[in-house]
Amino acid sequence: MVKTPIYFDHAATTPLCKEAFDKMSPYFTQIFGNANSQHMFGREAVKAVDEARDSIAKIINCKPNELYFTSGGTEADNWALRGVARANANKGKHVIISPIEHAAMLVTAKALEKDGFEISYMKVDEEGFVDLEHLKTIIRPDTTLVCCMLANNEVGTIEPIKEIAKIAHDNGSLMFTDAVQAAGVLKTDVKELGVDLMSMSGHKIYGPKGIGALYIRNGVKVESILTGGHQERMKRGGTTNVPAIVGFAEAFRIADRDREKNFEYVCSLRDKFIDRILAEVPFVKLNGPRKENRLPANADFSFRFIEGESILFSLDLAGIAVSSGSACSSGSLEPSHVLMALGLPEGLAHGSIRFSFGKHNTLEEIDYAVDVVKEAVEKLRAMSPLFKAQGDIKYV
Ligand SMILES: *Cc1c(COP(=O)(O)O)cnc(C)c1O
Repeated sequence: MVKTPIYFDHAATTPLCKEAFDKMSPYFTQIFGNANSQHMFGREAVKAVDEARDSIAKIINCKPNELYFTSGGTEADNWALRGVARANANKGKHVIISPIEHAAMLVTAKALEKDGFEISYMKVDEEGFVDLEHLKTIIRPDTTLVCCMLANNEVGTIEPIKEIAKIAHDNGSLMFTDAVQAAGVLKTDVKELGVDLMSMSGHKIYGPKGIGALYIRNGVKVESILTGGHQERMKRGGTTNVPAIVGFAEAFRIADRDREKNFEYVCSLRDKFIDRILAEVPFVKLNGPRKENRLPANADFSFRFIEGESILFSLDLAGIAVSSGSACSSGSLEPSHVLMALGLPEGLAHGSIRFSFGKHNTLEEIDYAVDVVKEAVEKLRAMSPLFKAQGDIKYV
């Protein structure tokens, strides 16, 4: 018998790894100095932050002074989009963004529109891949920035960032990628990707919550959005969150060290899960790409004739934690913007559930979850008027 609860919601957040916890712990009570202070307590704090910055910079292949710590992925996304758009407004006020970005990007884009910027949306295909030919037709001389996430948090699509960046650069535009879901899972070498800015977050990679970073290539003009003290080379005010930075860097180091091993292992969990669900549950659609160019952690399904929420509650009762749509849009009755952009009919978009696996999950948990999903879906469909109307005698 498997032990419950089972956590299949790693795209929402991950548990802090022990290595990061241990490394952070003295920085709360003993080495507590303000990194801005000019005495020995401050110097100790600065040393820890410098080491963390060097370590992350090495992993993403940038200079330490191109890396800025933020309060998380959301702030890094906001900063990249708002900061670049505003700082380059004299060159143009047009920005291109993918329609399947995180809310941190899409809501910021809407706000920029109110400030007189023009936003164009790329087209994506039914698996979520950006249409490069379409991008070439919407990019313009006044486009200052192109934004596309490296990997999608809802359906797991890994985007062709290198190709998108090339189109941006050929046009003289800057390229930003949100690598929050990709960091520690895929290779996130900023030179290889060809990006000018890249955002990351601690808590999606077994690090602490409330910490993230933005890579800004030297020479790129970005306005500050958090103004205040001299921290982060005068670009981002606010007392440095030393323990979180130390934990973030340690979690990133571990994730990078074990990247290939974890990739293969988590893929094997995902593939078993996807194969069994598709084979054993009728009227189900896998959202996003089948296997190639899909995040190892992600399996997202639409179950016809039932609401995602009702499946989520049934699984919760059975001790399995999943997400319906994206965690950010749940609680609203709007279907997921990602699934709508992929062209799913509204009915299917409403019945979607995201399973996201992690390095601590097991094949036994996968098998148990498939059995629970099968039973839950069967029960819910038996009660569904939509399903009865379909007239499938096997279930009514
Ligand atoms: C979680 C997430 C964010 C937000 O990061 P926080 O650190 O939680 O603010 C941004 N983009 C993507 C793709 C995410 O998955």
